[in-house]
Amino acid sequence: MELGNHSRVGIVGGGPAGSMTAFFLMDLAKRIDLDIECDIFEPRNFTLTGPPGCNMCGGVVSESLVQKLAISGIPIPSDLLVDTIDAYTLHSDQDHVRIGAVSEGARIACIFRGAGPRGAEAQKPIPWRSLDSYLLDLAQQGGANLIAERVKAIDWHDQRPRITLGNGQSFTYDLLVGAVGLNGSGISMFEKLQFGYKPPRYTKAYIAELYFGSREVEQRLGQSMHIFLLNIPRLKFLALTPKGPYATLVVLGENIDQAMLEQIFQAPEMVRCLPPGWKVPVQTCLCQPRIHIGPPRQPYGDRIVLVGDCSSSRLYKDGIGAAFKLAKACAYTAVVHGISKSAFQRFFAPTCHELDWDNRLGRIMFAMDSLLRPFPKLQATLLDCVRREQDDPNSPKRLSAALWDTFTGSASYRTILANAVHPSVIRDYLRTFARMACKMTTV
Ligand SMILES: Cc1cc2nc3c(=O)[nH]c(=O)nc-3n(C[C@H](O)[C@H](O)[C@H](O)COP(=O)(O)OP(=O)(O)OC[C@H]3O[C@@H](n4cnc5c(N)ncnc54)[C@H](O)[C@@H]3O)c2cc1C
Repeated sequence: MELGNHSRVGIVGGGPAGSMTAFFLMDLAKRIDLDIECDIFEPRNFTLTGPPGCNMCGGVVSESLVQKLAISGIPIPSDLLVDTIDAYTLHSDQDHVRIGAVSEGARIACIFRGAGPRGAEAQKPIPWRSLDSYLLDLAQQGGANLIAERVKAIDWHDQRPRITLGNGQSFTYDLLVGAVGLNGSGISMFEKLQFGYKPPRYTKAYIAELYFGSREVEQRLGQSMHIFLLNIPRLKFLALTPKGPYATLVVLGENIDQAMLEQIFQAPEMVRCLPPGWKVPVQTCLCQPRIHIGPPRQPYGDRIVLVGDCSSSRLYKDGIGAAFKLAKACAYTAVVHGISKSAFQRFFAPTCHELDWDNRLGRIMFAMDSLLRPFPKLQATLLDCVRREQDDPNSPKRLSAALWDTFTGSASYRTILANAVHPSVIRDYLRTFARMACKMTTV
């Protein structure tokens, strides 16, 4: 079961996973003189502002992903960058510490997935470009066709996958790629096909684009992402990222409700980062997207494969990087090894398993963080260790690197954990804790 000349590939979903799969498929096929057709079905118009044009995301792209994309023929142009950041500031209830980029000149890209938050259209012209629109354009330049429609149904016809649109039009393909993400009903169409696929586990997150104005963003946040280690029940991760005149608030946790949001906005650490007297405007662009937290079951079969969030991804970070990895593995398998279940099992599944296994280590990291949260002294020790690492030019900065990589998504959880539990880091932590405890008893 292989792609041949005039084979047809259908891709459902034109977010990063769908567009990058199309880009790599067309690129690889051209290199071996294989003439294939590729249709991408995507109903969203990413040049619009607000929810209609947006695939709901924190919009942080690590420096290592920017490099990997560029090497693979997807350079990130400067008009996509709404902002860049070169540091993280970690806030606890007593203190804060700034972690600079681990390698000289490393900068994180901050982007919008659509044309920007609701209301951004008031700026004419809008000063930045959408990542998803850029990737979709690249796929089209590579020869893929965009069909700007939502897929309503998928079934099998003559042992080939067939998709049907709302207007009754149907298309049969040699290979069908699912890149429908986690939001919306697209994922259930693939589950109903009964080839063994079970969607990944997910939970709801919260994102709000807070309008401060460029001067206030610069003054309050600088070129740093701000991470808050608040001891609020069910809260796992809380960050404010500068993005032009906006600060993007990302909240990860369980059952994020109004009461949790009120606690967040009243926390003194958060208040320090907001303009004086600032209140959340009524018109704020916000959403509660689903975020990937567990692996799917068998995201492939004969003539069918799933990539991006509806397949394997990374726990709580770097979803675009994971989509890039799977898109590449999927395209390579289909063009070079074929489109059978066994080809995907052999050449695509290892990339999925690598992500799934690494996420297990990520879960250990997050469990360690949850253990620290209720104990201010343990948090103060952590911040002190980081501060001393940052101040010491000869320090290998292992703890800083672990934190930097956790927030940026630059490295695997295996690398992060290896740095975080390195004997020298544990020794330094215990010494700092003992010294702080002694100081307190002396006082
Ligand atoms: C709170 C939060 C913060 C995040 N922050 C970051 C971050 O800072 N950095 C990062 O790298 N990742 C981040 N992510 C993860 C990132 O958003 C995802 O991993 C990424 O969007 C996955 O891309 P995708 O193409 O698989 O899915 P999506 O981006 O969801 O795209 C799926 C596409 O499929 C289309 N579609 C769905 N159903 C149909 C249908 N029936 N017919 C046709 N088209 C259809 C949709 O319109 C959509 O365009 C974050 C996620 C969340 C929830």
